[in-house]
Amino acid sequence: MENMTASSGVEKLLSVRNVYKSFGLNAVLKGISLDLAPGEVLALIGGNGAGKSTLMKIIMGIYSHDSGEIFVDGKEMTVGKPAEALAHGVYMVPQEPLLFPNMTVEENILIGFDRPRAELRRELVERMDNLGWHIALERKASSLSIAEQQLVEILRGLLRHAKVLILDEPTSALTFKEVESLFKCVEDLKSQGIGIIYITHRLNEVFEIATTVAIMRDGVITLDGPVSDFTRDDLVCGLLPTDSCQRKTQVVSKVDYSKPPVFELRNFSGYGFTDISLKVYPGEILGLAGVVGAGRTEMAMTIFGRDKVLGGNVILDGKDITGLKTADVIKAGLNYVPEDRHADGLFKISDVACNTTSALLSNPKMGRFFLNRKEEKKVTQQYVDDFRIKVTGQDQLTGSLSGGNQQKIVIGRSLSTAPKLVILDEPTRGIDAAARGDVYSIIHQLRDQGVSILLISSDMEEIVELSDRAMSIYLGRVNCEFAKEDVNQDNLTSAAFGLIRKEEEKA
Ligand code: ADP
Ligand code: MG
Repeated sequence: MENMTASSGVEKLLSVRNVYKSFGLNAVLKGISLDLAPGEVLALIGGNGAGKSTLMKIIMGIYSHDSGEIFVDGKEMTVGKPAEALAHGVYMVPQEPLLFPNMTVEENILIGFDRPRAELRRELVERMDNLGWHIALERKASSLSIAEQQLVEILRGLLRHAKVLILDEPTSALTFKEVESLFKCVEDLKSQGIGIIYITHRLNEVFEIATTVAIMRDGVITLDGPVSDFTRDDLVCGLLPTDSCQRKTQVVSKVDYSKPPVFELRNFSGYGFTDISLKVYPGEILGLAGVVGAGRTEMAMTIFGRDKVLGGNVILDGKDITGLKTADVIKAGLNYVPEDRHADGLFKISDVACNTTSALLSNPKMGRFFLNRKEEKKVTQQYVDDFRIKVTGQDQLTGSLSGGNQQKIVIGRSLSTAPKLVILDEPTRGIDAAARGDVYSIIHQLRDQGVSILLISSDMEEIVELSDRAMSIYLGRVNCEFAKEDVNQDNLTSAAFGLIRKEEEKA
């Protein structure tokens, strides 16, 4: 789009001026300004916690800002009114699409309009034809891939005549082919003059589809301008802390590397990850760095018997446990605390006691099928005390606990199976600082008891803080390994963004 270079304020679809936002004492946005013109694809990049999602939620009117202004099409928006943002044509496709699974594609797109259905349907079909998109309107949403669900979300936005479309890390859950078709969609939308804010973790994507780029770090924009003005190295500089001073960490690891590893992956492959080899030693915390979507969760789920193994082996304590059913994997001594504890980890309807002890049911020492209520109470109380889980009583429903306390319960539950290795997937995502401290001490406690830990985290600070050693996964493959003394934020960030590769290291 040639006209995107025009910089007069009137031509802007969206203009954010000097926006500040704090949550309590945490200053999350410190004077953000950015513009978006028709046909512009602005890549917004930055590490976890930089403030990207907060800024988008403010633009969407979901959060209110403390000061600053937001203009859409030259009109200033009232603070904190989602309906107004929609009416002005700003639409966000969330990272996890929110469709009604039992409704059809058409019903999902057309829900919530008060215009005649036939008219809407005509407009929808016309739009899809114009864009050359094909998706059967009568399909059930539950049968759609994530990529297709995103298309449905985008169509929802287009029917609302969105002029500004926000895509929050749209490719993090997509396969390679799906990414290609999403890029084509973005190109189509761009040619129709829609402005797009494209949040991503992947630097390569910036050069592939964006016209402009902005890097956010710690609530400020550290670099912005046309993509053609920058090299990859420029972008990396914007991502890394300015003083580049690496936090001194305890460099001596207590792990005895002369012992045989307790856990090993040999050329392990599955959906979303390829040819992964790694070892975890007794009492070791191995950090697995990477960005969301790097393939780590898929790998963990496959180890845990939830997905198909496509190649290689999983060895636990000398035993080959490749492809075993989940219950047998747990029995063998491996447990997994999933990232999405709301969906996978907790049975919301159960109370605290049931939750902490449900994993015991598969512990052979405790009897497989039956646990009496008294025993269950005792075990639960021990975990509640050990982990400072704040509950009003053992009967409190887990769903009503805070995120941090839910997480402590899930980790507690996994421990009750006396595992040799625990895989923790993003153990502190979305929980507050105090609870995070508690979770860290639980992890240390575990390690001190000789349990080995595979720590999946997209929070580089967390990996630096906890790991004895770290590896990085990039696009489903191991691309780097760091000994304790090299586990620092710079190294991990560069590796997670795919900027250091094994070959380059060797060269
Ligand atoms: P990003 O999307 O770049 O990863 P976020 O905008 O999600 O970053 O988060 C930026 C900071 O704001 C983080 O420190 C996060 O903990 C904090 N934060 C985000 N949402 C809330 C909230 N609703 N309440 C309190 N703190 C929040
Ligand atoms: Mg975010």
